[in-house]
Amino acid sequence: MKKLVKGIIEFRQNILPESREKFARMALGQKPDSLFIACSDSRVAPNVFASTDPGDLFVVRNVGNMIPCCGIAGHSTADESEAAAIEFSITTLNIKDIIVCGHSDCGAMHALLAGRNTIKAPNLRAWLRHGEPALSKLTPSENGLSPVNLLSQLNVLQQIEHLRSYPLVQERIAKGELNLHGWWFELSTANVYAFNEAADTFVLIDEAEANRTLSAPIETWDPGGASKKKENEPENEQTLSF
Ligand SMILES: [Zn+2]
Repeated sequence: MKKLVKGIIEFRQNILPESREKFARMALGQKPDSLFIACSDSRVAPNVFASTDPGDLFVVRNVGNMIPCCGIAGHSTADESEAAAIEFSITTLNIKDIIVCGHSDCGAMHALLAGRNTIKAPNLRAWLRHGEPALSKLTPSENGLSPVNLLSQLNVLQQIEHLRSYPLVQERIAKGELNLHGWWFELSTANVYAFNEAADTFVLIDEAEANRTLSAPIETWDPGGASKKKENEPENEQTLSF
C-alpha cells in the first residue's frame, strides 16, 4: 500500500505535468478498440507488455480470466458483471476485438488441478466451475508445457467458447464486425503467445505472427465443444457443492 500511495505522489510530481493535455482529452470520452479479458493476477500487466496507454483497452479482470456461459434470453448463467462488460463494450464502445488472455503459473489453474472440492472459500470454489470444461479436456502435454500451463491455454480457448455463446457476440461475428483472440502471457519471459488456429497451438507473437493475428482471428476453432458444452454446462451448475 505504501508503494501505491507514494506512486500517486510521484505521478503527480513527475508525469502529470507533462501529460495534462492528454488526460484532459481523455476526460471527454473513451474510445478503446479492444476488450481485454485477463486474470486478476498482479503479475499480468497488459499495459506494460502490450505498450498500451490509458484509453486503449476496455478491461475485465477476474480470477482465471473466465466468462460464464450465456443462458436463457442472452442472460449470463452466473455473475452478470462479465456479460455486462461484453454488452457495454460491444454496443456502446463498438469495440472490434475481444482478447482473452491467460498466463503461466495461474493460481486458478493450480486450484482447478488440485480439485475444486479442496477449496474452502465458497465463492472461489463456485467461480472456478467455469474452468472445469477446460479441465475435462486436459491430456498429457505433447509440447513440453506443464499441466498447469497447458490447462491455462485450454482455459483461454474454453472461455472463448463461452464468449461465443452470447447471441450478441455471435451476431457481431457473423456481420464481420467482431473478432475473438486467445492470448497467453508467459511470466518468466514476458513473451505473449496467440492461438494460431491453423497450427492448433499458441504461437509467439513476433512480427510475422502479429501480421497473421491482425488478418486471421479465431473464427472456427471448435475442440468438439459447442454441442458438448451445452450438454455439460447445466450439469456443472447442478453438481456444485457449496
Ligand atoms: Zn491467473
